[in-house]
Amino acid sequence: MPPTDSDAERAAAWAAARQDLDGLPGGGLNIAHEALDRHVRAGAGARIALHCVAADAPPETLTYGELTTRAARFAAVLDRLGVGRGEVVCSLLGRSPALFTVALGTVRAGAVFCPLFQVFGPDPIRTRVNRAEASVVVTTRALYERKLAALLADTPSVRFVLIAEDTTDAVADAGAVRVLALDCALGQASPDRPVTATRPEDPALLFFTSGTTGAPKGALHVHEAAVGQHATARAVLGLAAGERYWCTADPGWVTGTVYGIFAPLLAGATIIADREEFDAQRWATLLAAERIAVWYTAPTALRLLMRAEAGGGLTWPDALADLRVAASVGEPLGAAGVAWGRDRLGVAIRETWWQTETGAIMIHHPGDAAVPDGAMGRPIGGIQATVLAVGEDNRPVGGAAVGETGMLALKLPWPSLFRTYIGDEARYRACFHDGWYLTGDLARCDEAGVFWFIGRADDAIKSAGHLIGPFEVESCLLDHPAVGEVCVVGRPDPLIGLAVEAHIVVQAGYHADGELRRALLALARRRLGPAVAPRRIVFASALPKTGSGKILRRAVASSIRERADGPAGLPPR
Ligand code: AMP
Repeated sequence: MPPTDSDAERAAAWAAARQDLDGLPGGGLNIAHEALDRHVRAGAGARIALHCVAADAPPETLTYGELTTRAARFAAVLDRLGVGRGEVVCSLLGRSPALFTVALGTVRAGAVFCPLFQVFGPDPIRTRVNRAEASVVVTTRALYERKLAALLADTPSVRFVLIAEDTTDAVADAGAVRVLALDCALGQASPDRPVTATRPEDPALLFFTSGTTGAPKGALHVHEAAVGQHATARAVLGLAAGERYWCTADPGWVTGTVYGIFAPLLAGATIIADREEFDAQRWATLLAAERIAVWYTAPTALRLLMRAEAGGGLTWPDALADLRVAASVGEPLGAAGVAWGRDRLGVAIRETWWQTETGAIMIHHPGDAAVPDGAMGRPIGGIQATVLAVGEDNRPVGGAAVGETGMLALKLPWPSLFRTYIGDEARYRACFHDGWYLTGDLARCDEAGVFWFIGRADDAIKSAGHLIGPFEVESCLLDHPAVGEVCVVGRPDPLIGLAVEAHIVVQAGYHADGELRRALLALARRRLGPAVAPRRIVFASALPKTGSGKILRRAVASSIRERADGPAGLPPR
């Protein structure tokens, strides 16, 4: 879509994008139908939808036809269990055929798919399952035994747990929760279960994201989001039918689900999914061996590749002849990253900007010389962006001047915008001002209309591409009797952007020593998981506060930035 200016032009652009999809009779829309059945009906049932590779197992390949059948079977499983429209199905799964089956089958059935990050510890899993009021959790036996089984007494909404990739049916029910083997259930289910006739505004996807305060926010998306997912997969990532595409994001986060599952299938692409975690040599080899044409990844991963290369420990394949597009999301890539991409990958890595709430890419760097390296880029067609001047409380007070830093805002509406934060309408409403969606990011816009990312306006911490809410970490640490006060902030880190750091005032009677530090780190890792737990604990004699006694995270964070040698306290672990 070309860039547009007026509200009418933007509405027309989205209406045109909607025409690229089938829709259902009577004005219905279902993302799974558009992602799978539409291609099968058009004669592409034999095209490969998913090619899932692993280090120690043969690849598993599913065509569009086979994945459609699997999704239909999963929808039939939900019918049989009495899980109805609008009910939430959570996945605690890595990239696997089961994940795709569950995500697409859930949406096909008119239920709501909610991915959880498998590296989460029990606390974040329990909080999210309960806020989602999930009826079903699908996971593996190992994750069930390690993380989920012990939580089920505390997750009253969960009626079923489905164990994926396990051929035995010998799983004992857990109290009132029925525990079933997914493959057995799929085997008994009808492959002909039709798509539920959902409406465009029916809920389809639920993603949890973090802010400054309070519990994580559940951003709810509707089937209409398919319009934005499809349009951006094509226009920004350049995806087309049969294009070999690799998205490295974990499916527990919004990118890994929207651009790891739905958007590429909407575009008819062939997804290459790697079951393994990051490994520099494996990734460099995979790019060539799997003949990747479009690669969507993140700055932290790119920096790890650059580091491995600089350390001499990485052998690149002779040529990446198939690679056409490389794009990055989640944190600023920076001009150095773009230059490295040009040199090493033979393509300019395109920056993309979006967030859980926007549902699809909103701003991108087209990868040409008209936009300077290191900039976020320009809004996609159908989107108008601006920068608003904000007051102390981050509320808009007017437009920002050219080049001035302010709140990045997007003009309403667009199809993939979230429809609410479940159970928190007030927080949802606070995201809007005078016809604009307030992103919570600080940016500036130059004379050429190019946007530059400055940082977050709130205290959420972007660490290795994951958005972490300080409140969630602080709540966990406060459960330790030695912790009197705590403030969690991000410490700038050359590799992962920001590292989670907890500043702690110890209760009288406890010693701020190495033993306590180790105990606190262990507690946080056990309960929050390694991706969320602090990397570093700093003991302080006091924390900066407002007159009313509220801890000033901002002051702690800026004192870290100002003092390269770190704040006073015991040395880090
Ligand atoms: P999430 O909702 O977890 O996807 O995180 C969204 C946040 O990630 C945004 O609000 C930004 O703060 C950050 N982000 C996403 N893309 C970029 C980018 N290209 N450059 C800088 N920050 C980004």
